[in-house]
Amino acid sequence: MVGRGAALMPIALLPDEVSSLIAAGEVVERPASVVKELLENSLDAGARRIEIRIEGAGRKRIEVADDGVGIPSGEVALAPARHATSKLRTADDLLAIRTLGFRGEALASIAAVSRFELGSRAAGQEAGSRLTVQGGGAGALRSAGMPPGTQVVVQDLFFNIPARLKFLRSDETERRRIHSLVARYAAAYPAVRFRLSLEGRTVVETTGRGDPQEALGAVFGAEIASRLLALPEVEAAGSRVAGFVSPLDLHRSNRKEITLFVNGRWVQDAGLTAAVVQAYHTLLMVGRFPLAVILLAIPPDQVDVNVHPAKTEIRLRDPEAVFGLVQRAVRATVLRQGPPAVDWRRTETAPWGGSAAGRRHGPDPAWELAHGLELPRPTGTIVGQSSLLPSGDLPLLRPVGQVGAAYLVAEGPDGLYLIDQHAAHERVLFENLMEARQAGSPASQALLEPASVELSPEHAQLLEPQLPILESLGFEVEAFGGATYRVRALPALLARLNPTAALRAAVEDFEEDERPLGAELEARLAARVCKRAAIKSGQVLSLAEQAELIRTLEACASPRTCPHGRPTMIHLSVDSLERQFGRRG
Ligand code: ADP
Ligand code: MG
Repeated sequence: MVGRGAALMPIALLPDEVSSLIAAGEVVERPASVVKELLENSLDAGARRIEIRIEGAGRKRIEVADDGVGIPSGEVALAPARHATSKLRTADDLLAIRTLGFRGEALASIAAVSRFELGSRAAGQEAGSRLTVQGGGAGALRSAGMPPGTQVVVQDLFFNIPARLKFLRSDETERRRIHSLVARYAAAYPAVRFRLSLEGRTVVETTGRGDPQEALGAVFGAEIASRLLALPEVEAAGSRVAGFVSPLDLHRSNRKEITLFVNGRWVQDAGLTAAVVQAYHTLLMVGRFPLAVILLAIPPDQVDVNVHPAKTEIRLRDPEAVFGLVQRAVRATVLRQGPPAVDWRRTETAPWGGSAAGRRHGPDPAWELAHGLELPRPTGTIVGQSSLLPSGDLPLLRPVGQVGAAYLVAEGPDGLYLIDQHAAHERVLFENLMEARQAGSPASQALLEPASVELSPEHAQLLEPQLPILESLGFEVEAFGGATYRVRALPALLARLNPTAALRAAVEDFEEDERPLGAELEARLAARVCKRAAIKSGQVLSLAEQAELIRTLEACASPRTCPHGRPTMIHLSVDSLERQFGRRG
């Protein structure tokens, strides 16, 4: 180790070229960060059309052109100066940021690490001005003919900091990041026409007609976009949420397709992502994640975006409230839709229930409002929930028999159903138990003889906080000294449950959950208890018992999945049977 005094130089202010390179490094990490900053500037300028052209994966050339308000010729030379901005004046303004930019750093940072060209023509001006800057040096300004709007060209990114170049990933990866960035912005701004061309090939193109579902096609492809469910516009404590989420038969192995926009800005937020994931709890299989584009409008004084120069992180003043808002809106949408049948045919209906012909054109109110644009809005409009059918409802099924003492075979008007008897019974018990619990105190059935159950000290500690929940479900459990408990009564619905198994269910395989809410903890516990109480596979059922199970399953709100998210049934539609037997092409 060298001592400070021996090896270090005396303190001195860094020369501008060095400090600007350091600052630039925080804003411009890779080609996609350049695209993000330029895109956000175009949106701030009110652009209705944004064209992005990328060559050499963004290392060679990035061009972003818009038809926004432009920069008056007298100000063009100032735009790439550090801390030059038209969006912020006072420290108080920082508390109410309504634009995507505000730091006045992006153009300066980009110009410091590239060969930079800014052309702009403000509305009402005869000609535009064009400024060229090489690696942050002094710019050369000239007048130029161009259409109104702004065009930025960034060439040879990082030509003067080779260290950065080395940290870039493969061209493929850099292109993918740009693509996914532009696609997400295109989806969140359906009223803006986006075009992204990568190495001369157009990969994102939207019409700017304002149809959110059409814009979502840019991210997910038209087929998946058409299956997404619109959230109703929900508002709480001044915050609003809108967006689209996947139905239960559409999921991914990671959270990457959950996109969050807060006040028009794409952000990464683990808490809000968890809110979306939790809304699907018990409905998706463990390890599967929904797709979503969530747009939040939060009063600017409740969000701090000035956390990091790249502005992708936020701090919320009341994270719990926003978490709850998102979770409730998504949960309600998913439950209302219910799980669709496993079918090869696609329905013609748009996810919000209207026919494709009835789809709106022009800016969607919920969507625009979620960006904080003050559009007049007809009172009482609730977008996205007009006439959703509870398609989770099962048709009436006729029991045919049991296979392998594990599956029930049933026939419906639309084909054949294979039902997992254990999973189906879990779902039935779970919904009945939760319903009884919500209706007040569920019926308890006293045990003839109280059962004492001895747990390990560790399990006893896990059980303690859950005792009130067990009670609310209809259990009567009392501490009997040490780690021993006495079960006096069970929920009447689960009378066949072994009391020891019930208590163990509360403490074994206890998952470390991300952020379980009160109600969720309860649902998890109920799901585990119902698993213990449900008919097992291997149990032979009489035809009357089969019919009873199917009848009660039909009455469930989400009959197609068990409370742990596994499917309760496989549906073979008439159509698919005919295809498989070669009766139809
Ligand atoms: P910020 O966006 O934080 O203000 P930037 O460095 O990104 O800082 O941009 C500096 C200024 O240049 C902006 O405040 C704006 O006035 C102007 N500007 C940049 N890009 C555009 C654009 N595409 N259209 C109109 N004005 C722009
Ligand atoms: Mg900016």
